[in-house]
Amino acid sequence: MQTNPLLSAANEKLRQDNNKLTKRIIRETANAIVDYNMIEDGDKVMVCLSGGKDSYGMLDVLMTLQKRAPIKFELVAVNLDQKQPGFPEEVLPNYLTSIGIPFHIENQDTYSIVKRLIPEGKTTCSLCSRLRRGILYRVADELGCNKIALGHHRDDILATFFLNLFYAAKLKTMPPKLVSDDGKHTVIRPLAYVPEKDLMAYAELKQFPIIPCNLCGSQENLKRKEVANMLRAWEKESPKKVWNIYKSLSAISPSHLMDRNLFDFVNLRPTGVADEDGDKAFDADTFADYSPIEEEDSDEDRIDATTSQSDTSHKFQKIINIQKL
Ligand code: SF4
Repeated sequence: MQTNPLLSAANEKLRQDNNKLTKRIIRETANAIVDYNMIEDGDKVMVCLSGGKDSYGMLDVLMTLQKRAPIKFELVAVNLDQKQPGFPEEVLPNYLTSIGIPFHIENQDTYSIVKRLIPEGKTTCSLCSRLRRGILYRVADELGCNKIALGHHRDDILATFFLNLFYAAKLKTMPPKLVSDDGKHTVIRPLAYVPEKDLMAYAELKQFPIIPCNLCGSQENLKRKEVANMLRAWEKESPKKVWNIYKSLSAISPSHLMDRNLFDFVNLRPTGVADEDGDKAFDADTFADYSPIEEEDSDEDRIDATTSQSDTSHKFQKIINIQKL
């Protein structure tokens, strides 16, 4: 049988694109883990799995990194079944059994609680997520997990940044790593550097058994939607612009903002010593050094939040430089 050369070329291109996508997601996840020292030797990580594309992607990549990492850490996948109507409860156990990962399904009917306490038509997410948070902390303790991994990605971090900016008058977002409000757990976001569109493509490639996220019947958050549309429009106009906004979140100059708690403006005095790197307050900003990071398909690292890397990070670099998948 004769092969169609056009078809073969298209298949080869697809194979290369998929390979690039997989390498990129693994590399950027490893970079984020290294930069923020998210996972250390001996950790037991509870990987929170909702059944959405992001958490499936996170689990998949963490399992790959676990096999390649020079350190030892455990993973346990955890799903909280909130008893939303129509939740297909067999999907996650079947999938998790098929990939051979230890897992726990926590059954808690938060859906009924939320429905009982929140009047019809009001947003349910705030109570729902508060209840979920408390349950997940308890489950982490019961399973002996010292780290809790959440599947938020680059675009979640950017959207939260703009929501805080526009509606809370604060410069803050969801950080890649934090200590939980009960003071007992480290919460990590290994996908912090990965853009959502890569996770969408990865879910398609891997054919994850996605569970729809609208089972609770919650109203869409209009503010979040507005910010997501704004970011999508900017991304279309220039992906570099969005990456640079993102990059700026780890290049902050407290002396050139206005927070008196972060910088001691009150006691600021001339030192009398010339400093070539000092502020040239009267010069207009020219952005002569403006150098947008490379386009997404580059094999170069897009983000480098690290200025100095520890031994652990050097070890992890070995798995970042993945040549063959
Ligand atoms: S969308 Fe539904 S499940 Fe998610 S936090 Fe809101 S109420 Fe809870």
